[in-house]
Amino acid sequence: MTQGFSTRALHAGAAPDPVTGSRAQPIHQTSSFVFKDAEHASKLFALQEFGDIYTRIGNPTTGALEARIADLEGGTMGLATASGHAAQLLAFHVLMEPGAKIVAAKQLYGGSINQLGHAFKKFGWEVEFVDIGDHAAVEAAIDDKTRVIFTESLANPGGIVTDIAAIAAIAEKHGVVYVVDNTMASPYLCRPLEHGAHVVVHSLTKFIGGHGNSIGGMLVDGGRFDWKAHADKYPTMATPQSFYNDLVFADGFGALPLGPEGQEVDIAFAIAARAFSLRDLGPALSPFNAFMIMTGCETLPLRMAKHCENATTVATYLEGHEKVSWVRYAGLAGDDYHALAQKYCPNGAGAVFTFGLKGGHEAGVKLVESVELLSHLANIGDTRSLIIHPSSTTHSQLSDAQKTAAGAAPDTVRLSVGIEDAADIIADLEQALAKL
Ligand SMILES: *Cc1c(COP(=O)(O)O)cnc(C)c1O
Repeated sequence: MTQGFSTRALHAGAAPDPVTGSRAQPIHQTSSFVFKDAEHASKLFALQEFGDIYTRIGNPTTGALEARIADLEGGTMGLATASGHAAQLLAFHVLMEPGAKIVAAKQLYGGSINQLGHAFKKFGWEVEFVDIGDHAAVEAAIDDKTRVIFTESLANPGGIVTDIAAIAAIAEKHGVVYVVDNTMASPYLCRPLEHGAHVVVHSLTKFIGGHGNSIGGMLVDGGRFDWKAHADKYPTMATPQSFYNDLVFADGFGALPLGPEGQEVDIAFAIAARAFSLRDLGPALSPFNAFMIMTGCETLPLRMAKHCENATTVATYLEGHEKVSWVRYAGLAGDDYHALAQKYCPNGAGAVFTFGLKGGHEAGVKLVESVELLSHLANIGDTRSLIIHPSSTTHSQLSDAQKTAAGAAPDTVRLSVGIEDAADIIADLEQALAKL
């Protein structure tokens, strides 16, 4: 029988160290690994045997974290990266070619909008942003050049839930890969691979690490995409790669007997992302950060439950406040996204949401300057409660119309509710709201 989520969050991918008996995962703070002999070395380099060579490509500490997150997401293999953005870069590097196109949700983390909309342009990768709630628009945006659909599960700036199964059905119909950024939900709340996504990416910096102390990322291979059937679209996966003696990743790693009972699993995407994209582009996670994030991951279920409980309490309080005009949190019964949240995130709708102040831009500035317990900063998913007024910070470059279109209208405040006592979070908001 498969173990429960909390047990796996503690144990998956790690065991007492066979040499020293160390119970915690040791930090293998080394750049490289000694070969047993020349034959061992040559097999490792030719991908004929798994093992560590050099920490840019793999390391036992990051390997333990990779196995744990892949297990929690229900994927076949994970690949740790230096940041969430690095995980996105590597996933797209495997899937895209110059001139190819990404169909992406308009409702993405602002950093991802920049990455896809600006930085990726230099690779010749095109992107079309669409409203993720408009499934007809998603389908209409797909053309012969499209290789990827990219959405978040719970979408930034908060309060939006993607209908993952509906988007997955569109991806399936058109034979394109569906990549989901599951950062805001974490696998405790939502597992996109179970709803038909092909690949999951994470910023481990947020809820999985959970303590606001380490940057990291992960991509997880769902092992379900038929690369050979779409070889013309995904040459990196399904055509011979000259830098590995003409190896075809989908052939070499598409059916390895690595399942719990020796079942064949497909890890070809994760291997390509490591052996080609990570090896050559280089954004590896440090073993120390892998250790910090793994320690955080052990309490993910406890923290997420408390984050969601507090978020619901705080959102309910704000809904009843005279200076607040609206609250957008899918955990509230009256919210537009409540039904989707119950389908995809039955254990809670996350801890990040937005609300509007009747006093507009000025009130938003005053509020973030008046809080004492809450931290005014640009992050989410810390144990501590965080607040930001997008109109005066992350979105300050935009016109009011652009701000509103991005879900960051001048009156909008975003909270990432922490795991303090809810009464103290409310007391701090109460005293700050009183100053408006
Ligand atoms: C923070 C974040 C990212 C980027 O992650 P980094 O670790 O900061 O590179 C991507 N997606 C979402 C939803 C995020 O919140």
